[in-house]
Amino acid sequence: MSERYLLGLVGTGIGASLTPAMQEREGAAHGLRVQYRILDADELGLGADDLPQLLTWAERLGYDGLNITHPFKQAVIPLLDELSDDADDLGAVNTVVLRDGRRLGRNTDWSGYARALRTALPDAVRDRVVLVGAGGAGAAVGYGLLDLGAAHVAVVDTDTERAEACAIRLAKRYGDDRVSVASDLEAALADAGGVVNATPVGMHGHPGSAVPVGLLRPDLWVSDVVYFPLETELVRAARERGCRVVPGGGMAVGQAVDAFGHFTGRVADADRIAAHFREL
Ligand code: NAD
Repeated sequence: MSERYLLGLVGTGIGASLTPAMQEREGAAHGLRVQYRILDADELGLGADDLPQLLTWAERLGYDGLNITHPFKQAVIPLLDELSDDADDLGAVNTVVLRDGRRLGRNTDWSGYARALRTALPDAVRDRVVLVGAGGAGAAVGYGLLDLGAAHVAVVDTDTERAEACAIRLAKRYGDDRVSVASDLEAALADAGGVVNATPVGMHGHPGSAVPVGLLRPDLWVSDVVYFPLETELVRAARERGCRVVPGGGMAVGQAVDAFGHFTGRVADADRIAAHFREL
């Protein structure tokens, strides 16, 4: 009989997530029986205080792993038995493997972003980059950029304290000389090779672009983490100006590829998951 995996996504507002379908289809392609459930805390009436019970019940009910998303990526950490160094550096976990009575915390947001950029623009990975948005997604993107070898990451956020906290976190791992906080986006872009939007601006319900589109130049590559919609205002404007673009779907696919590996111990086919993602 084929191996079975029971997986779930824990977070709020996750009803439309494509993660279940991506994981189940990839499982089927490996001859595995993967069942992936949405565990929406809002619908279940659960908050961060209920996370300990939720994890206990997931184990009792035979779950093999969970993806964790907003707002629980930090709150889950004290409940784990083991944390990978990168998840520890980032202070965030988006993947929990439940195996042999142990809870193993991993972060595939950063590795998923790095995978997406490396695949789409392999020649750009050492560029100087401006990172707009210093929340959880921004920290993961910054970590991915620096891990790939970005010469420098300038962090911009309307909330200066968040920009500073993100820069300190990244510099602790990759060195002060490779990370800075920038208050003037236009000046920061002047000597950058790429720019990444890691704010929610551009999502359905948050129209616009955190990077004024008038600042885009054809030699600047442009990446977005927002993937509802896939074609954000920023991505559309960047294409129109002739910039190379990496839309947010790449990170979503990349994190799923790496999470599948953690859950099953198998190497996911990134192209196949990307094809599933495009179909969904
Ligand atoms: P968050 O709220 O933790 O952080 C967002 C940050 O952006 C905040 O620090 C905020 O001050 C800053 N910000 C907002 N508007 C800004 C502006 N105009 N200019 C500069 N800074 C601004 O959110 P998050 O969890 O980091 O998520 C951000 C986005 O990333 C969301 O849209 C989320 O859906 C997306 N995301 C995508 C993936 C993926 O796989 N593609 C993964 C994780 C998150």
